[in-house]
This record gives sequence, structure tokens and C-alpha cells, in this order.
Amino acid sequence: MVENLSPLPSVDALLRAPETAVLLTRFGRAAVTAVLRDILAARRAARTFGGPDEALIDEAADYLASRFSRSQRPVFNLTGTVLHTNLGRSPLPPEAADAAAEAMRGATNLEFDLATGRRGDRDDHVSGLLCELTGAEAATVVNNNAAAVMLMLNTLALGREVLVSRGELIEIGGAFRVPDIMSRSGAVLKEVGTTNRTHARDYADAIGPLTGALMRVHQANYAIVGFTAMVPTETLGSIARDAGIPLIEDLGSGSLVDLERWGLPHEPTARESLRAGADVVSFSGDKLLGGPQAGLIVGHKRVISAINRNPFKRALRLDKGRLAALEVVLRMYLDPDRLAQRVPALRLLTRPEADIRTTAERIREVIASRWPDRDIATEACRSQIGSGALPVDLLPSAAVTIGGKALEDIAKVLRGLPRPVIGRIARGRLVLDCRCLETADEAAFIAQLV
Ligand SMILES: *Cc1c(COP(=O)(O)O)cnc(C)c1O
Repeated sequence: MVENLSPLPSVDALLRAPETAVLLTRFGRAAVTAVLRDILAARRAARTFGGPDEALIDEAADYLASRFSRSQRPVFNLTGTVLHTNLGRSPLPPEAADAAAEAMRGATNLEFDLATGRRGDRDDHVSGLLCELTGAEAATVVNNNAAAVMLMLNTLALGREVLVSRGELIEIGGAFRVPDIMSRSGAVLKEVGTTNRTHARDYADAIGPLTGALMRVHQANYAIVGFTAMVPTETLGSIARDAGIPLIEDLGSGSLVDLERWGLPHEPTARESLRAGADVVSFSGDKLLGGPQAGLIVGHKRVISAINRNPFKRALRLDKGRLAALEVVLRMYLDPDRLAQRVPALRLLTRPEADIRTTAERIREVIASRWPDRDIATEACRSQIGSGALPVDLLPSAAVTIGGKALEDIAKVLRGLPRPVIGRIARGRLVLDCRCLETADEAAFIAQLV
């Protein structure tokens, strides 16, 4: 291939080419130079010489554009799982997102008491609210609920036994398994009871000189049905009190309000757990609460003080952005009547089926004109709350569904849109559950499909 043996241009010549000027302005000299060098080296290695310099610069432009584009981007969650861990769980109220952005842009009184001019505590921005909303004596916050569980165990039961029912030794995915978190926290797991039935005497009989705490873990993402028995928190609390040891409860999703007021199934609230006798309770900020990722810990003053003195607390603390967002969301709970409108997670979970169906009908038309040869329908479906909350309770919803062969091809096109659309394939159809496509977002959704 004699005609392909024309020499490659130099990096300098390419940098001087008029087509490169726009790349230099957009991406900077260092990045452009490095990419041009890489491309030249690859051509030399593959012995593909020749071709116009513009082709080489085009290749550099494509590479630079993808290298400088953001990896994490907004998507449309049409999976039917509202609090989808892989898609970032709870959407924040705009007021909370704004507060986070504002706090992150500059200085704040994060740990500064404006009244006295002295040093303050970052938790003070939310701990009073959390006490008010749960009836707790004291509260603290950390990175997430996994961190909260770790910290409670490490503080209260380092080197000591913690009794947990065999029915509560859960795995919630992402390497959170109760036995593992227990051993890493320095506590010693002592299993009591059986998978389906655990009785009060199982706990009482297992208490000995090495026992550091009793622990209850909310059966987050599974249900044990049939011949079952579990000990009510009240009973556990009195067993713990008699033995002079604390009762720890990991509520998982937890909630600050009774979800039944919106016709949703009951999920235990932190207030109920504390009233029933738990000494310290933890739950997530970005599950049913509808806030940012956080682990909320509420309970007795002496327990929370001990947790705050644990050096791990410093390692697991929240940053000012998330504290700002959490504060805004917690303040919304002071006005429960408007919560379901203002907190997007609750608004999506309580969205009327008829409203979702209307969205689905409109979306079906757009999808049908984009893929005219496909079998496309609107169907009733069921959404999941997600994040382990209430796994057996599904919410009536509506979806656009696409049938036929090679559904993965369509799924891939949808994932490749500027704001990717994520659905799910179920029973031979691609299902786009419209619960989380709110009317305000419909125009943006449609615009990128037509
Ligand atoms: C979700 C969950 C956790 C972990 O919470 P993160 O906020 O994801 O760290 C722990 N325990 C239970 C029971 C859960 O449901």
C-alpha cells in the first residue's frame, strides 16, 4: 500500500491547523495535545498512515467531547420503582436542592453560632427538628443509614454480643448484610430464634455477661409469611431494660409520618419505635423521608452523646450541602397537610392512577409515531416503592408497553437519548411505567423523541 505511506503530521502541525483552534478554546492546550499524541501513536502502532489531517482532528474532537462530557446525568426513571437505589433514590424538593447548591457555593454558618460568635455544631441545624418530629431526646446525622447502623453498634457494643433474631439477618444489597456490618463494627453477632419464629424467651435466655445490646432490624425488602412469630418492640424494650442494656432499632426506610393518611401501607415511624421502648433508632434520609442521602439517628440523650464522641462520627459526618437540603425537607414535615405535594417522593408515591394513565396515553402516541411498526399499548401495571420499603405492597399505575422482537434495541435507543429513559423488560414487553414522569416533565420527555 505505497499510497498509504505518506508520513503522519507532527503534533505541532496539527496544533497549528485552523480546525484545531476551536478545540483549543473549548478544551485547553494540554488536553488537546495529549489526545493528538495518543491518536498519532495509535496510527503509528497500527501502521495506518496517510489520510487527511482533518480526519485526524475530527477523531480528536469526538474523543475530547466524550472525555469532557459529564458521566452522571439526569435520567427519566420509568422503571416503576420510585425510590430506585441505582437511579439515585429520592428526588429532592427544588427548595432543598437550591439550599444545597447555595451552601456548596460559598461560606455558611455550618459550625458557627451566629448569636454568640463562637464555634457551633453542624448537627444543630437539624437535630432540634428531628427531636420535634420523632419525640426523641436527641438526634444526630451521618452519611447514610448503613453508617448509622455501624456507628450505633460500634458505640454501644464494641467487643460485646448483640442479639438479633434469625428472621432479621437481612441483606439489602450493595454489600449491606447484617452479619458483616456487625463484625466490621466490632460487635459480636449472637443469633436468636429461628428464621420464621422468634420468641421473647429466645432473647431473654441468650442474655449473659457479654451481651452489649438487643437489636431489631426492620424486615426491609422481604416478608416472612405463614407460621411466624416475632416479638413486639414493647416486649423487646422491657427485656432490654430489665437487663440494663440498650435496644437498637434499624428501621431501614422508616418514616416521620403515618403513610396511611395517604392510603399507603403502614411503615413504622421513628416515633412509634421510640415510644415502644427502643433506646436508639436509625433510618435513611433518601428513602421514604424524601430527602438527601443521610442516616438519621434519634434516641436517648446519653446514647446520642456517646455516638457523637465516637471518632467514627467524624469520619461519617454529613457535608454542608446535604445538611442544608435535609434541613429544608425536615421543615416541610412541620406542615404535614402539604407534604404530599411538596416532597416529590411522597407526591410520586401518592400520585392518582388516573393522572398516571393520562400521561401514559400521551406518551403512547409519541412512542407509536417514533416506532410505527411496533405493537405499542397502554396498560395497567404496578409500581414499587423501592429501597426495600414495603416490598409486598404495590401501587396501581399505568405504563406504555412495547412488544415484539429485539426489545433491547429499543431500550438501548431510549438509554442513548440526551436525557436517557430507563424502563424495564417484563414478560416479553418493554414497560415504561409513567408514575415518575410528572406532567411538568412531559414536554422535555416528548421533545427528545420527536
Ligand atoms: C436501606 C437499609 C439500610 C441501609 O440504608 P442506606 O441509607 O442505604 O445506607 C439499612 N438497613 C435497612 C433495614 C435498610 O432497609
